[in-house]
Amino acid sequence: MNANVNRQILLVEKPAGKLGPEHFKLTNGAIPEPKDGEALLRVRYISLDAANRAWMHGATYRSAIEANTVMAGGGIAEVVSSKAPGLAAGDLVFGDTGWQDYAAVPAKHLTRMPKIEPMTHLLSIYGVAGLTAYFGLLKIGKPRNGETVVVSAAAGSVGSIVGQIAKIKGCHVVGIAGGKDKCRWLTSELGFDAAVDYKDGAIFKALRAAAPKGIDVYFDNVGGDILEACLPLMNNYGRIACCGAISQYDGAPSAHGPRGVPGLIVVKRLVMQGFIVMDFMAQRDKALADLQAWTSSGKLKVQEDVIDGLENTPKALIGLLAGDNRGKRMIRV
Ligand code: NDP
Repeated sequence: MNANVNRQILLVEKPAGKLGPEHFKLTNGAIPEPKDGEALLRVRYISLDAANRAWMHGATYRSAIEANTVMAGGGIAEVVSSKAPGLAAGDLVFGDTGWQDYAAVPAKHLTRMPKIEPMTHLLSIYGVAGLTAYFGLLKIGKPRNGETVVVSAAAGSVGSIVGQIAKIKGCHVVGIAGGKDKCRWLTSELGFDAAVDYKDGAIFKALRAAAPKGIDVYFDNVGGDILEACLPLMNNYGRIACCGAISQYDGAPSAHGPRGVPGLIVVKRLVMQGFIVMDFMAQRDKALADLQAWTSSGKLKVQEDVIDGLENTPKALIGLLAGDNRGKRMIRV
């Protein structure tokens, strides 16, 4: 990294179909001057998130991202200089830094982070991924000892933690993931009771065999056909925690959704609830304490997928959407 240049990755065009390298451009910009209330940040790690692609479709829980701007994205950064009370040079923060070396960001949009080793854990287990898994499963899914929990995108950052927390809570846990290797990893390394390879076809049959007592909690990261396959297997009074719909992100917005939803929800008295992790931030300390205790006792394994180099960020996101990652993917800038 050249200390006088701010390398930036721009989203040059919003994709109409699948995201490709042609939608991004690496450019050299100026290091920004922080205004009053802002801090100048040097970005250390950039989080790669399926949601990065969803933001390109339009406004969601955040404003839409526009073409010819620095690609948005969360990151861990060090404060270089500050014009904001409460932040000083050397502090560590999390915020929407964008895909670049340096960013000037209003302090009110930054979360101060502790200095821990490895720093990468601030994006994985103690970051959005860990907290999403924790709150989505425990507050929305509400699993009880002995129940069956199914999670999709199970070998990804959120899913791999969901399944392990469900095991800690005494549940029978089934992961859905793409490919035999990921499925084997879920059962042999992470302690899932069973794993279903959705790319193998016949997902409904495989799920029924893996969850012989039916599904009490489905943690849905993908929507679409996998949600459709889970619905008929839900037990009465089951809960579906709608965390994301990754099967719908990378392409033109699709009108296709799971069939048979309303009828099954009525007959099975299901609760289907979406959530955004930020809604639970008031309970963050308790969640972090639990995650830390489980991690340090070895009950919860943290899987990270760290790729070097800002220039590799577009490729890393495209790869994540295609399932190349295992656990939390991030860029070491
Ligand atoms: P992950 O690390 O889980 O990576 C995404 C994974 O999704 C890939 O590895 C791939 O694994 C799987 N995948 C891709 N396409 C499909 C498909 N068509 N069908 C099934 N699986 C697919 O990414 P994230 O942790 O960033 O995101 C996981 C989910 O969590 C997303 O839906 C995201 O939107 C959601 N999320 C929600 C939050 C909230 O507050 N509600 C906060 C953070 C994330 P495979 O090889 O198995 O296909």
